[in-house]
Amino acid sequence: EPGPKPITSALDPRFTPTLYAHVGQPGSWTLDYYRRHGGYEAAKRAFALGNDAVIEEVKKSGLRGRGGAGFATGLKWSFMPLNDGRPHYIICNADESEPGTFKDRYLLSEDPHQLIEGMLIAGFAMRASVGYIYIRGEYIHTHGRMWDAIHEARAAGLLGKNILGSGFDFDLQVHTGAGAYICGEETALMNSLEGLRANPRLKPPFPAAAGLYGLPTTINNVETFCAVTHILKYGAEWHAGMGTEKSKGMKLFQISGPVARPGVYELPLGTTFRELIYDWAGGPLVEMKAIIPGGISCQLLKWSEAILDTPMDYEALAAAGSSLGTGGVTVIPKNECIVNTTWNSVRFYGHESCGKCTPCREGISGWMVKMYEKLVRGHGQPGDTDLIVDMADNIGGRSFCALADACMGPVLSSIKLFREEYDAIERGQPLYPAVQGRWRDQ
Ligand code: NAD
Repeated sequence: EPGPKPITSALDPRFTPTLYAHVGQPGSWTLDYYRRHGGYEAAKRAFALGNDAVIEEVKKSGLRGRGGAGFATGLKWSFMPLNDGRPHYIICNADESEPGTFKDRYLLSEDPHQLIEGMLIAGFAMRASVGYIYIRGEYIHTHGRMWDAIHEARAAGLLGKNILGSGFDFDLQVHTGAGAYICGEETALMNSLEGLRANPRLKPPFPAAAGLYGLPTTINNVETFCAVTHILKYGAEWHAGMGTEKSKGMKLFQISGPVARPGVYELPLGTTFRELIYDWAGGPLVEMKAIIPGGISCQLLKWSEAILDTPMDYEALAAAGSSLGTGGVTVIPKNECIVNTTWNSVRFYGHESCGKCTPCREGISGWMVKMYEKLVRGHGQPGDTDLIVDMADNIGGRSFCALADACMGPVLSSIKLFREEYDAIERGQPLYPAVQGRWRDQ
């Protein structure tokens, strides 16, 4: 079962959804439906423009990677060596596993040809011969949809040899993960694709220099490739005309937590939290105290009028002390114990650490998880929070990949913003006793 249908901005005539325009429509995943709605016209335009012009078009559009880091897509593509005679690869990172993030799953299951077309264009631009779609294992319902769409595209000559008479040969493969968060880290993902244990690799070299099988590779997120399809269809100016000065285009924002209409909303970058939470998601159902802006690896923000008016774009959120990440917004109710909430995150990272480096393996999976467990089980002592901060200072910035740093985001920001809750637990007097009761049941 594909899960609950997302709510999209198709509900509001002010915005024209593109990425999610067909999500929820009967048969939207078939080639016939896709072609009836202008499918594969963008690829034709790309072939007519030529490889280098496509890269220029993507650069001009201002598209930034939608996996979370927001790296300039056209710039990343231009790192690929040109005509060096070696095989080139592109990879779609569909290992969507950041808690609070659930946008790519619907693109995969409801509009797979949009992704295939984006990858076809990207493969053409970067002279790739093969593209891999690495889908997280838990998205089991999307694997078959993706394969069916690839088979349809192959049969119609949209994948394979001399695609649409362009002389370009390209094919796609789907690889299913086995449920490890670390496989979303691009170098761990490549190891996994090669059949190795999914430990991250040292960067640099970046994938364009030495990627899959040591060959030039570019990895982009599902939403990024899908955005490329529309950029080639409607033009770079169209894309650059939406969003803010440095954060261009539409973005799939997700909202979860106690709001009236949680879901996925396709809105321009720079939309404020207030608009997303109140206008689109129907407003909070209870009093709130914090916002996770873009998946749990982002620093928490304290609920306030000023934060509600903050635009959700890369620059404004960096200025607010956090980041846009995946655009997966989670709201935290006032009566939720922040130590308990953070413990959830810490346990997640502790479980998902690949164990390669000591700060992450011993620091998070070992010590940090135990310290939080001690606090939430009611055994906190004065000095525990300071010890957590000290540990965090020795983990953050000292690990092999970004996973450990990501865990320090919720830890340090929750202590900075809600220190009184930690202090109260250290004194044995939690501010939210009802929640404490729940911990004891766990
Ligand atoms: P990063 O900033 O290291 O890299 C982002 C991309 O830019 C990579 O493809 C990288 O190769 C490229 N890049 C960066 N600097 C480069 C350089 N100097 N030269 C060439 N290429 C360069 O970030 P990351 O570790 O890949 O990703 C972190 C982000 O992932 C976080 O912001 C988080 O929000 C997000 N994330 C998303 C999910 C999800 O499910 N979508 C899960 C976990 C984390």
